[in-house]
Amino acid sequence: MRIGVLASQGAFAEHIAKLRQLGAEAVPVRLPEELEGLDGLVIPGGESTSISRLMRDFHLADKIKERAQSGLPVFGTCAGMILLAKKNSDAYPETLGLMDISVRRNAFGRQRESFEAELSVPVLGEKPFPGVFIRAPLIEKADGKVEILARLGDGTMVAAREGRLLALAFHPELTDDLRFHQYFLDIACGKR
Ligand code: GLN
Repeated sequence: MRIGVLASQGAFAEHIAKLRQLGAEAVPVRLPEELEGLDGLVIPGGESTSISRLMRDFHLADKIKERAQSGLPVFGTCAGMILLAKKNSDAYPETLGLMDISVRRNAFGRQRESFEAELSVPVLGEKPFPGVFIRAPLIEKADGKVEILARLGDGTMVAAREGRLLALAFHPELTDDLRFHQYFLDIACGKR
C-alpha cells in the first residue's frame, strides 16, 4: 500500500517512519503530481497556518480536496485535523472543509499547552492509547454521521472518523504505539 505524507511542514518524517514500520510504502508529498497513485494521505501536525499556505502555494489544496471527495482516505493529526475540518473557530487558517466537524485551535490554555493523557479508544481495543497533545486543537462539534473515537476524561472530543477520513487532536507519530497508523491502513485497504 502506498501512503503519501504531506511534507510541506511539520512532523512528516515521523509519520513516514511509523508507516514504514508497518510495512507500507510511505512517500513524502510536496507537489500535486505526487498525489497520483496513492492509497491514502497523511496530513501531519505542525503549524496549520503554514501548512495551509504552503498547500495553496504549491497547488495541493484543491487537488487533495478533489481526491478526498472521490474517496482517498486521509488521516489528519493535530494541525492536520484542523485542516480537515469544515469549520475552524479561528479566522485562520482556511481549512479543506472535508470533515463535518468544528474545531478550536490551541484550545488548551497555557498550563496545558502540552500534556499527555491515556485515552480510551474502543476501536483499538482495551489498552489505553498514549495521547501526546502539543498546542492541540479540540473538536467543538461533530455532525451525527461522525464517529467520535476518543474523548478526554471531561468529555472533550479528541479523535473522530467520518468514512475514510480520520482526525486526531494529538500526535500518534510521537509514540511507540502504532495502532492508529494501523487503523488508518485498515481503513485505506477497506478492512475497517
Ligand atoms: N497549534 C497548532 C496549529 O494551530 C497545531 C499544533 C500541532 O500540530 N502540534 O496549527
